[in-house]
Amino acid sequence: MPAVRSQLLEVVHDAYPETFEGVTPTKSLGESIFSGLTPHPNEVLNLFIQQELTSALPMAYYMAVRKGLNSLMDTHLPKSATLSPETLRTAMGGLMALREVELNETHRLVFGPKDAHSCSGSNCPSRTPTSPAALGTYQKVFDYVVGPSQLGTRVLQVPEFHQDSGGDTACVFPGVCRGCMEWWESGHAKLRKKAWERLPEVFGLS
Ligand SMILES: [Zn+2]
Repeated sequence: MPAVRSQLLEVVHDAYPETFEGVTPTKSLGESIFSGLTPHPNEVLNLFIQQELTSALPMAYYMAVRKGLNSLMDTHLPKSATLSPETLRTAMGGLMALREVELNETHRLVFGPKDAHSCSGSNCPSRTPTSPAALGTYQKVFDYVVGPSQLGTRVLQVPEFHQDSGGDTACVFPGVCRGCMEWWESGHAKLRKKAWERLPEVFGLS
């Protein structure tokens, strides 16, 4: 049994990594590694708490809160996926803290000043950052990145600024230049790293 357990733990540690460096958008993370029926993230969280897998707990908490309160407190879940009042309190506190980081940091990133050289398009709305056209675009970018709050948080999710359109990749926000997109993309990567580093703290694990 110890040998089987340590092999399983290796798989778990890959899917619930402890450091940000292990997280790439293409890698399958979280409950998708379990074979058979995908467990509810609450169920995984309960299992890890019971098994004292401390290093995997920040990510397991994140996966559970990511889908918001309706998922976290779903009353139709089996007992194994129902969180204890204590776990639920920790998870909700963490969700609120993460959402605050997500909203504040994304706002700063999208509406805040850009590096003078980053805007490269002559028709890009960022040429006149205080114009109604620019502010309208920034609001759309902001809403797109953070999503509606009843859905939880997407703070660790890479925002897709490009879409496939007939074999070509097109920007989700027409008119916005490549330089501005790259500014937001690299800024969001920093934001994700920052949020990741706060996971243990917001879930009371540090
Ligand atoms: Zn621009």
